[in-house]
Amino acid sequence: MARIKSKDTKPELAVRSTLHRLGYRFRLHVKGLPGSPDLVFPGRKKIILVHGCFWHGHACSRGRSVPKSNVDFWVTKIQGNRRRDLRTIRKLRLAGWSVLIVWECKIKKDDWLTRVLKFLGE
Ligand SMILES: [Zn+2]
Repeated sequence: MARIKSKDTKPELAVRSTLHRLGYRFRLHVKGLPGSPDLVFPGRKKIILVHGCFWHGHACSRGRSVPKSNVDFWVTKIQGNRRRDLRTIRKLRLAGWSVLIVWECKIKKDDWLTRVLKFLGE
């Protein structure tokens, strides 16, 4: 089956470029970690995941809207993605990583950056 999570999505690029401009350095899609997390800050033991609302089943209006056709297929698929996300995050936390999810729908608002900087500074 094709890879569900597409790399280098628009919201992810927005987060990456903003943090890079602020001087943060990180690794991308680290293969050796569960779920190949999006942004990895090895020195801080922190991980940021940028989640698309639809694919990852966010509880926002976009995340809850299911395509009109093949409803069962999509519902099953997105539930599967959510379960996988939870498993991945649990594994990362058990391995000592702090994990923050940035949702696509929040990226247009300024407060995502406040949250991220607080997370990274902890
Ligand atoms: Zn959302």
